[in-house]
Amino acid sequence: MAERAYFDWNATAPLRAEARAAMLAAMELAGNASSVHAEGRAARRLIEDARAQVATLVGAEPRHVTFTSGATEANMLALQPIFDGQRLFVSAVEHPSVRCGGCFRGNIAELAVDSDGVVDLDGLARALAGAERPLVSVMLANNETGVIQPIRQIADIVHAAGGLLHVDAVQGPGRIDCRLEELGADLVSLSAHKLGGPQGAGALIRGSDIRLQPLIRGGGQERGLRAGTENVAAIAGFGAACAAVAGNWRSETAHMAALRQRIEAGVRERCAQAVIFGDRVERLPSTTLFAVPGLKAETALIAFDLNGIALSSGSACSSGKVQASHVLAAMGVELSLARAALRISTGYATTEEDVEKLLNALTKAVSSLLKNYENPGLSSGLPKSGLPTSGLAA
Ligand code: PMP
Repeated sequence: MAERAYFDWNATAPLRAEARAAMLAAMELAGNASSVHAEGRAARRLIEDARAQVATLVGAEPRHVTFTSGATEANMLALQPIFDGQRLFVSAVEHPSVRCGGCFRGNIAELAVDSDGVVDLDGLARALAGAERPLVSVMLANNETGVIQPIRQIADIVHAAGGLLHVDAVQGPGRIDCRLEELGADLVSLSAHKLGGPQGAGALIRGSDIRLQPLIRGGGQERGLRAGTENVAAIAGFGAACAAVAGNWRSETAHMAALRQRIEAGVRERCAQAVIFGDRVERLPSTTLFAVPGLKAETALIAFDLNGIALSSGSACSSGKVQASHVLAAMGVELSLARAALRISTGYATTEEDVEKLLNALTKAVSSLLKNYENPGLSSGLPKSGLPTSGLAA
């Protein structure tokens, strides 16, 4: 099979070599980390080393890192009411695991975003007025658009209102600075598989000694916060990936930013009417969500796949569903345009050749769209307006 080009890093990133090596070594161990014998102590050591590696990436105390099965569980663990009547505020563009409100039952309010997908700070301050010790959850960067939230300013508003801030920072590591001190966050969720670790591991990190109740009770692992025998190999892989990210992200991010510039210039050259969502505000260097009016995302995805290119329409979690992205809806994007949205997400290993391949496939997709438009018999479902009429590269 010809080599494929992978542009779906926001859905899951390839395993880093360091993570694979750490996992293979961990899988050679027989011990349960709770056992007192040498084998158990060796497993315990791997977990505690990984805890320190995760803590270092975000500038936290290792004792404030709780390993979970991923960010979905970390978000659930973070979003629990600490008194009756506590209110939870979540932004309208959060991942479904936050939008569902975690352990809150009712008392959940949504925070609006503007047309760029950024949380409205005045609206946030107004919403929090009068709320007793509110819990607020806003993601660091959006998985669909890559739009980065002004977390530091949000933290200041939340703290001035006497509340706590949880940040789903899943899409941050390897792309932007995720240190708690920079963010001002009280709770942060991470997912191993978005930063080059394995799927099925993640962590909730507390900025201080915030008290939480376990969601899973039993053997008292993870200092009583998450029972169940630890997945040592996954945790070791997660730790190794965090160490690799901590050492490399600044140079990797420059590479991704250069590729994104090339990709977005290429999209605009091929279709003058293409819309790049969130392009007026700060975004992850790795992410472009764009729409060519008239080019249906589901059909285009298949065509790209057949051309050896993996990309996504919005987020993997919502693909397959008919309704358009809640993120674009919250930004006020028209449904027909939202249905055309394609997400390109890159990583440190994406090459210029991958980008060339992507842009060649985009040329094909846009020219067949134009051909269909010129031949209406072939294009019953196409809109009459907003089609690309110029800007198509030869
Ligand atoms: N939050 C965000 C922003 C995500 O992109 C994802 C993964 N799609 C999650 C949370 C859930 O992470 P996990 O797959 O580790 O449960």
